[in-house]
Amino acid sequence: MSFNIQKIRSDFPILSRRVNGYPLVYLDNAATSQKPQQVIDCIVDYYSNYNANIHRGVHTLSQEATDAYESARQKIQKHFNAKEPYEILFTPGTTHGINLVAQVFSTVLKKGDEIIVSAMEHHSNIVPWQMLCERTGAILKVIPMSEEGVLIFSEYEKLLSEKTKMVFVNHVSNALGTINPIAKIIDHAHKVGAAVLVDGAQSCSHIKPDLQELDVDFYVTSAHKMCGPTGIGILYMKEEWGNKLPPYQGGGDMIDQVTFEKTTYAGLPFKFEAGTPNISGGIAFGAAIDYLNEIGFEAIKEYEDNLLDYATQELLKIEGLKIYGTGPDKTSVVSFNIEGIHPYDIGSIVDKLGIAVRTGHHCTQPIMDFYNIPGTVRASFAFYNTMEEVDSLVSAVKKAKMMLS
Ligand code: PMP
Repeated sequence: MSFNIQKIRSDFPILSRRVNGYPLVYLDNAATSQKPQQVIDCIVDYYSNYNANIHRGVHTLSQEATDAYESARQKIQKHFNAKEPYEILFTPGTTHGINLVAQVFSTVLKKGDEIIVSAMEHHSNIVPWQMLCERTGAILKVIPMSEEGVLIFSEYEKLLSEKTKMVFVNHVSNALGTINPIAKIIDHAHKVGAAVLVDGAQSCSHIKPDLQELDVDFYVTSAHKMCGPTGIGILYMKEEWGNKLPPYQGGGDMIDQVTFEKTTYAGLPFKFEAGTPNISGGIAFGAAIDYLNEIGFEAIKEYEDNLLDYATQELLKIEGLKIYGTGPDKTSVVSFNIEGIHPYDIGSIVDKLGIAVRTGHHCTQPIMDFYNIPGTVRASFAFYNTMEEVDSLVSAVKKAKMMLS
């Protein structure tokens, strides 16, 4: 499909609603994306026509549901270019995937081992590692960032040693939009024998990663960031880790044989997928991936980059407005403040004009501490936004500034 913005917008029913009497301008895509009719229909079709539990049933509905769920896993495997479908584990989302790895990785760590996170992580990529350190006696180290919101690579190199066992970094920062050089980060970590987990929650809707080429050990993301439903995501776990690490939760689906004396576990991916999963969510995740690939990730990124450049240029014309995250490699996120005005007040006023932006610390309090601010206003653009919507944002922010100054 060529990039036909009118056709794309017509796929998203929510984009035609009004908020506070104004047409909705949805610029909170970094928090969650909107859903096209194709994805909504997919969920309705499952519950209307073949709702059944998967994997164990011999009846027709169960087989249809199993086929649809497993074929979604294969679509996801191909999209991210994992080597095997069983390296794709379904999870409830990014946070769950990170916690799963942090939990089972405690069997690998010993006191004094080091794990490295970056200064621009989401809380979900900080807190589970702190909890892991408390349990194991491992030590958490942090890659610092520059004033522009870019990781300082030379400092990362200094932190790496044979004590490093794990490096965790997001591909894109949700608060700043910075794209991190994950290929180089992975390469350097592997040289000292450390594993790497990449948090793809913020990059997955803009950039299609090649997991085999990156040679990453773990990769997590959430479907709701890529036009899919909430409550479903994936954890990519390289086969050798999947075989080495113990199961996470016990229950149905993850076993081979159960007796009261001893239980043996199923192979990948089921070993890490105890219990009835989010079946409709998994199937709809596959539909969302089909939808995005039909438009094409290169076309999406190019279109969003234009929105980002235009928004940055126009917002910077407002006196006293400062943008956080000014590095050269960014996705379509503009995080900003206006001197002397609280971000929450700007967010509330632009909402009255139908514009949805996010205000606050964006689950990245260390970044806010770094800049010594309470939070920012964050406008995050998707491929279904338009230049006219950028204009609406800029004029609403100007109006808010006038009212609040
Ligand atoms: N990491 C990053 C970079 C994110 O942006 C988010 C979502 N805001 C998460 C992790 C957590 O994702 P979820 O809430 O879907 O688990």
